[in-house]
Amino acid sequence: MNYENTLEFAKQQDAADPLKSYRSMFYFPMMHGRETVYFTGNSLGLQPKTTQDYVLNELEDWATYGVEGHFHARKPWLSYHEQFAAPVAKIVGATPEEVVVMNQLTVNLHLLLVSFYRPTKTRYKILCEAKAFPSDQYAIESQVKFHNLRPEDAVIEIAAREGEHCIRHEDIMEAIEKHHESLAVIMIGGVNYYNGQVFDMEAITEAGHQAGALVGFDLAHAAGNLKLELHNWNVDFACWCSYKYLNSGPGGVSGVFINRRHLNNPGIIRFAGWWGHDKASRFKMEKGFVPMPTAEAWQMSNAPVLSMAAHKAAVDIFDAAGMDALVAKTEKLTGYLEFVIDEINKGLEQKLEIITPRDKKQRGCQLSIVAHGRGKDLFNKLTEAGVISDWREPNVIRCAPVPLYNSFEDVFRFGEILKGAL
Ligand SMILES: *Cc1c(COP(=O)(O)O)cnc(C)c1O
Repeated sequence: MNYENTLEFAKQQDAADPLKSYRSMFYFPMMHGRETVYFTGNSLGLQPKTTQDYVLNELEDWATYGVEGHFHARKPWLSYHEQFAAPVAKIVGATPEEVVVMNQLTVNLHLLLVSFYRPTKTRYKILCEAKAFPSDQYAIESQVKFHNLRPEDAVIEIAAREGEHCIRHEDIMEAIEKHHESLAVIMIGGVNYYNGQVFDMEAITEAGHQAGALVGFDLAHAAGNLKLELHNWNVDFACWCSYKYLNSGPGGVSGVFINRRHLNNPGIIRFAGWWGHDKASRFKMEKGFVPMPTAEAWQMSNAPVLSMAAHKAAVDIFDAAGMDALVAKTEKLTGYLEFVIDEINKGLEQKLEIITPRDKKQRGCQLSIVAHGRGKDLFNKLTEAGVISDWREPNVIRCAPVPLYNSFEDVFRFGEILKGAL
């Protein structure tokens, strides 16, 4: 694509954007009487304008029906979570039975590891990425300790090479090969939160299986950002949150994927609760856990309907837009951000460095930029001028132009503000 760093070009692209109508479905934080350039959908997605009605409907039904809302609410609470299986399965490339929405991300990470990390004397190692999101590091370490193992022995972290920002695919493959006799589980992020690198989930899954390990992914920064094919890639398990790219509100419910081949395995260990029990006999309230034949078997509690209502509002929008259209726009929009930064760099002595891979297959919509020789005052200037992005010490700015609601004009404005701030 031939880009130009002009307002006219940006406006032309926006006019031709098949997703242009989606922007007006979201509330943008305002600053100085103007919409901000909101580039932090990777951290907390914007609020759809429909969310309030979805939540309000549940509050109304609660007021009207009390406990009877479980049956008589417009969307009965008893089966509230079931309406997510089909649209969320589409977002992550799964079959509906393989997906359930429940709890929150780190909780689900633990529940999945309870089932799929079953260390033995000889197979006990977990392979993960170095500098993973801290919650994932804590979850993995504590799971290892829960099995009376030592993280120093059981956790293998794959790091970027000295002087490099991203982890090389061949280094992941080599580590899998090296530990193939002792590897129990591979558990890495689909997209690294810090540098925006996308891992080759299909190849990692295949290599993991060849080594005799199970393979899972934390898709916090991948769900709603990448075209995922969890089922076809043969991934064993995965989980994600809904408040980043999926716009379902702070602390929103998390999603879980469990490959069909693990469903109905009578030997599988899980932490069980009544909402995972076969729904036909759940309310007989009898002793003896009979699991649901789907990923719902991992549910423990009844659905948190208020936060799920916000999730429903967001998922309906996603379902209408479709992942194919979103990833097609990401390629152009994030490519435009890359181009604009490269243009600005031409006039700079000390250049900004994009540490996210240049290869479009290895990134989603986020670009992480190292502002060499510049401190947080650069970020503060951006914020004052109406850019909401994300600063990570010592000097990384993470920017995610989100295809659902960001525009080419946002990217152009960002460039102008960045130039001014430099
Ligand atoms: C955002 C994020 C989390 C946050 O976990 P919560 O349980 O939702 O608070 C965890 N892991 C990764 C990789 C994340 O990006």
